[in-house]
Amino acid sequence: MDKTPKPLTLSEKLFLVRFRVDSTSHLAVNQEACKACADRACLTICPTEVYRWDGAASAVTVSYEGCLECGTCRIACAKGALTWRNPSGGFGVCYRFG
Ligand code: SF4
Ligand code: SF4
Repeated sequence: MDKTPKPLTLSEKLFLVRFRVDSTSHLAVNQEACKACADRACLTICPTEVYRWDGAASAVTVSYEGCLECGTCRIACAKGALTWRNPSGGFGVCYRFG
């Protein structure tokens, strides 16, 4: 019998992550640029769906609380419309087991 452990799913991996949420966002978007953005890559590339399109408000919402600080969105936003900084000291994501 194969006793090799199964790889964790993304949901299972995310369950192991803890956050210490800062009171202010470390992420911001330029909403005017987002309105004109053709692909809105940030909506699909973020593994924790931090960015969502609010059609009623014609704006991108930013749920920074779930950010893994991977930096992918900084590269994906071709318009340079994303402002990204590290959370304040002691806040942000906390990875277990490495
Ligand atoms: S990819 Fe950049 S410009 Fe486009 S919606 Fe996301 S943050 Fe806005
Ligand atoms: S840094 Fe990573 S987890 Fe955080 S918002 Fe950007 S893509 Fe999502």
